[in-house]
Amino acid sequence: MAPTAIDLHHSYSESLPVSAPSQKASRKDSVIAKLGLNPDAVIHYNSAVPILYEDALKEKGTSISSTGALVAYSGSKTGRSPKDKRIVDEETSTENIWWGPVNKKVDETTWKISKSRAIDYLRTREKIFIIDAFAGWDPRYRIKVRIVCARAYHALFMKNMLIQPTEEELKNFGEPDFTIWNAGQFPANVFTKGMTSSTSVEINFKDMEMVILGTEYAGEMKKGIFTVMFYLMPIRHKVLTLHSSANQGTVSGDVTLFFGLSGTGKTTLSADPNRKLIGDDEHCWSDHGVFNIEGGCYAKCLDLSAEKEPEIFNAIKFGSVLENIVYDPISKVVDYENKDITENTRCAYPIDFIPSAKIPCLADRHPSNIVLLTCDARGVLPPISKLTNAQVMYHFISGYTSKMAGTEDGVTEPEATFSACFGQPFLVLHPMKYAQQLSDKISEHKSNAWLLNTGWTGSSAAKGGKRCPLKYTRRILDAIHSGELNDAEYETYPTFGLQIPKSVPGVPAEILNPSKNWAEGPEKFSGDVRNLAQLFLENFEKYSSEVTEVVKAAGPQL
Ligand code: ATP
Ligand code: MN
Repeated sequence: MAPTAIDLHHSYSESLPVSAPSQKASRKDSVIAKLGLNPDAVIHYNSAVPILYEDALKEKGTSISSTGALVAYSGSKTGRSPKDKRIVDEETSTENIWWGPVNKKVDETTWKISKSRAIDYLRTREKIFIIDAFAGWDPRYRIKVRIVCARAYHALFMKNMLIQPTEEELKNFGEPDFTIWNAGQFPANVFTKGMTSSTSVEINFKDMEMVILGTEYAGEMKKGIFTVMFYLMPIRHKVLTLHSSANQGTVSGDVTLFFGLSGTGKTTLSADPNRKLIGDDEHCWSDHGVFNIEGGCYAKCLDLSAEKEPEIFNAIKFGSVLENIVYDPISKVVDYENKDITENTRCAYPIDFIPSAKIPCLADRHPSNIVLLTCDARGVLPPISKLTNAQVMYHFISGYTSKMAGTEDGVTEPEATFSACFGQPFLVLHPMKYAQQLSDKISEHKSNAWLLNTGWTGSSAAKGGKRCPLKYTRRILDAIHSGELNDAEYETYPTFGLQIPKSVPGVPAEILNPSKNWAEGPEKFSGDVRNLAQLFLENFEKYSSEVTEVVKAAGPQL
């Protein structure tokens, strides 16, 4: 007999035993009653991947790629909307929050309007998707997260990106620590106080809830949880939250953290066949070691190829969510070079789709190497330099990169940008709080630190230069991990005072020191290096009263 459309037991949970329908029903009923959703709605609670596929395929434009991934579209927003992100100003958190352009205030009345607007919208839906899962692989620190949404694509995205509870854990899940109400298909009301567009992403640290209106970009949910961890971890546990990827040596067990802004190579470089992948984007550093916050990876797909990035290419299969890509309508083969919809084409997959993933995604070791990634479109910074403790602090606080097109709405050209702690959009406390904690940890655990420019070298992007070939960047990383670079001979890089190796086996010597090989000649180089140094100094001005003279002196000198 064919199942009926409103067979809740079927759509309910793959994680609860089939032999216990009453248990399933009671959990479902309590969730519906608690959430105040439409009691006649079909609720998909932690549904299996094929069930989410079936429902997603009913959404307009959704399809299956030739390799079995779910192809979904996020509508007009194909990147995050940082200008529309707001934090509720309430008494329990207001004194801790770094108010300003990153964390804009919204009052509790507006929050209530937005939340009821989201729930009212969800009440009109005949089908609702709920995902209950964890953020944070270390059981000591993990939080319970609930996603409530109306698109199967959003549910599958978060099923991939969060850590799936076991049957036992789901039975005892109880109430979530944090809930996301995603009503992204429905706009914010521009006449509500504080609203400046039809998009609003609001977080309330007192109620531990988040509301999404007017954007269907799934990355808002992922980065919303990251924001919560930037608040909760340091406040509750004195644990440091970092915008970084992490991997671990297969034999020696040494851990490397890669900090970097969007497009600098966290995902690409952490997927390394010689090392175990701990995670590609969000980590915490506790007294016990390093743990990943997420259960999945979110990789860029533009120009993806099996030759250059085989691990990621092969992870795009049944269960993965491919976003905003263009494919051949007959063969369903994805055209990874196509950026007609956006440069920020993405794929979200569970981390165990990467063969070298380390499950559980944590290491009870402190990082041996800290790699600060930057993608310098000016080509001024050397591909690799070794940093002193003071230089790590200077560059971590500065957070320099060239913002590449795509991940944020409206950015279409590379532009120089400084983003504190390599993650300013997600910081909740003042950047110095995180910087101080990092400094303490690096001193305590004696981690080596490096600045790695994955961007242009020898000439700027504007002057037709080329990005450092991935194979050389990978060779440099191998040399860091093998210890070759510890024993190398170094020279001092002008103005920035960085120590750069004179040679790295397998890497052409002429790319290592841009000052000696500038395409437009040495005179032009000294102008270009001074220009970048000037930008660093201007940006650092705002922190000058809060850092030591040693850290200040670790920056560029003009
Ligand atoms: P996000 O925070 O948005 O996830 P990310 O730091 O993970 O960003 P990646 O997804 O790894 O960034 O993006 C780096 C991109 O740059 C990839 O598309 C990669 O193929 C490309 N790339 C080109 N040359 C290099 C290089 N030398 N090193 C690293 N990545 C490179
Ligand atoms: Mn990434």
